[in-house]
Amino acid sequence: MPGAPLESFLDAVPEPLICAEAAYPPVIACDAEHVFCDGCLKQVRDGEGAAQGCPTCRQPLQEQRVSMVLKRVLDGLKFKCRYGGSGCEWAAAAGEEEAHAKGDCDFRLIRCEHCNGDRLAKDFPRHAHMCAEWPVDCSNKANGCVTSIKRGQVDAHTSVCPYNKCINYDQCNTSTTKELLLVHEAACTRLLTRLREAETARRNDSITRYRSSISSKAPEVAVGGGREGPLGCYPRRITGGSHSPTRDDSNLWGTLQLGMAGAKRGLAEDSPSPQKKRCKEEVVFLDD
Ligand SMILES: [Zn+2]
Ligand SMILES: [Zn+2]
Ligand SMILES: [Zn+2]
Ligand SMILES: [Zn+2]
Ligand SMILES: [Zn+2]
Ligand SMILES: [Zn+2]
Repeated sequence: MPGAPLESFLDAVPEPLICAEAAYPPVIACDAEHVFCDGCLKQVRDGEGAAQGCPTCRQPLQEQRVSMVLKRVLDGLKFKCRYGGSGCEWAAAAGEEEAHAKGDCDFRLIRCEHCNGDRLAKDFPRHAHMCAEWPVDCSNKANGCVTSIKRGQVDAHTSVCPYNKCINYDQCNTSTTKELLLVHEAACTRLLTRLREAETARRNDSITRYRSSISSKAPEVAVGGGREGPLGCYPRRITGGSHSPTRDDSNLWGTLQLGMAGAKRGLAEDSPSPQKKRCKEEVVFLDD
């Protein structure tokens, strides 16, 4: 260890503990316990001065060991964080600096293992939300996709991910790639619309019959003009909870309206409107 910069100490370093910088940690050089930093002593040993012994007293160099007593003196001196130049204002006992600098200094550098970029610790959480190499879950995880994708490749994955749900998933249970969904969804919606349209026609027909049977016994209930469509006669106004769209129906009712025209055409061809003869009615359905 090459010692510590003298200017990092905010308290005065005692003269015997200064070599080129501060001898921190202080390494004993000779029997007289002159101390230097590890870096200075290494230079002496490796250079031509090795034979001349301790730079202070010329006694033979000892096997190196740190003076724990003198280290404790330096540990207690006030010291600035090594990242002060980057903006850290931490200053406390020198003995606590290493734990601060390696553990909780906002200005230490953290390497992102995904993109290998270095970021200040204080900026790292933001990086974790932006790094294009960072692994993220597929947006279809809840649908069953367990693939982990790099953030930058989410769009590419999603288009080929086989777990994209059909817009009518509640009814058709289909999930597949975006490309196949384009084809499926159009056909799926057409089919559902026709099924729903047939169901609506069937329901209206039974309401009409119900109203007809009531009106013959209860003439005070309004029966007025209806309108004629491709399906034949269907009610203009229906009141009564049991025949309104329920919450569960709302999806299908939306779908129904979207594809109404095409489905009606199809249905009219399939079933040539047996209801047509019952057209001139407005049906008011009342809860019993
Ligand atoms: Zn030194
Ligand atoms: Zn000495
Ligand atoms: Zn710091
Ligand atoms: Zn990164
Ligand atoms: Zn996926
Ligand atoms: Zn579908």
